[in-house]
Amino acid sequence: MRSWPSVYLPPSDNSAEHPPLRLTDSYSSKKEELEDFAVASYVCGITPYDATHLGHAATYLTFDLIHRFVIASGRTLHYTQNITDIDEPLLERAKRDNQNWEDLATSQIDLFREDMTELRILPPNNYLGVVESMSTVIKYIKALIATGKTYDLQGDIYLDLSKVQGALENLPVAINEALNIFAARGGDPGRAGKRHPLDTLIWSVERPGEPSWQSPFGTGRPGWHIECVAIALETLTGQPSSEKESSASISLQGGGSDLRFPHHYMTSVQARAITNRSFAKTYLHTGMIAWQGEKMSKSLGNLVFVSKLREAGWSGNEIRFALINRDYRVDLNWEMRMLEEARANLHRINSALSREEVAPTRYVVSKIRDSISNDLNVEGAIASVLDWCSETELGAKGGSAGELSRALDLYLGITL
Ligand code: ZN
Repeated sequence: MRSWPSVYLPPSDNSAEHPPLRLTDSYSSKKEELEDFAVASYVCGITPYDATHLGHAATYLTFDLIHRFVIASGRTLHYTQNITDIDEPLLERAKRDNQNWEDLATSQIDLFREDMTELRILPPNNYLGVVESMSTVIKYIKALIATGKTYDLQGDIYLDLSKVQGALENLPVAINEALNIFAARGGDPGRAGKRHPLDTLIWSVERPGEPSWQSPFGTGRPGWHIECVAIALETLTGQPSSEKESSASISLQGGGSDLRFPHHYMTSVQARAITNRSFAKTYLHTGMIAWQGEKMSKSLGNLVFVSKLREAGWSGNEIRFALINRDYRVDLNWEMRMLEEARANLHRINSALSREEVAPTRYVVSKIRDSISNDLNVEGAIASVLDWCSETELGAKGGSAGELSRALDLYLGITL
């Protein structure tokens, strides 16, 4: 799939020492260093309907900050993002709106690309839809079946979790909660004949009126989690490298916190069943965005779209500033005043940068670097920039506006 245009990054200051990037792992809750010299990052993409709401934008902006820091610190980034362009909700929406599901997907992917471009998010090296990756997905399903850890249920294929070491013992939530979340997020814990209610669907036999593909194990379509396993392992395996021997297939996997369970947990279990090694070294999940007190979600229909905000006159830069200026792990109750504040702050920074003389900038640039390296503390980075504005407004001298404006672009993606 065609990605969106690349984004210009100002050169990094080679003489500057970049602290290690420390991120909170969502399963261990510990801060871990992203130490790979070549970082292999997999961020789950959209199901192409209802794109791009602010929850999506906040997630991809968070990973964009990580990717920018990796590149700025002189390391290589290998970044893959998928598109779940065949999925139950997509088919349901197309049916509801009496639209062809492929046309709906294409129009939403186009809109998503436009929004990502406006938000100045670095594009992935591999941007892959499931449909175009079907032969890869089938290859990994074959590999999983070959391990002897799957079983057949009326033509559908399931992974037997009891055969993957630790899969049922290390659930990130209590079993009752796991069953509830699993049911709410596409799982089928109640299906008769399953060996364990949490066993995940790998391949689903053809259903009348639904799209299907030929495979050595019958005509049908893949389950959700195995798609990400296949696309990630195919494009990123062998990419992570560090001084130490890597124990995991990739460096980083992430997405919104609603993917923590079951999607990312089951992805890691399935990948482990195939490769016999951990899937990702670090997992990172971003908080949900709520609107008028309710989590923004397709089912509630309370979505705020990037494209609508752009139509209303808000720039990608303003939307970006408003969404990144927060603790990425915490849920955010979105308010329109955040855009007003972003506009005012950007105006203030721009005015300070336009002065003949500006306050010293070397210190504030290193504060931006230190803050971002400390679990993406964007609020800390922006606070130091606003302090610098105050000093400049009071007449301090000796800095270079160009130096600070390049750092704002490089680390935060903000252009002035
Ligand atoms: Zn995924």
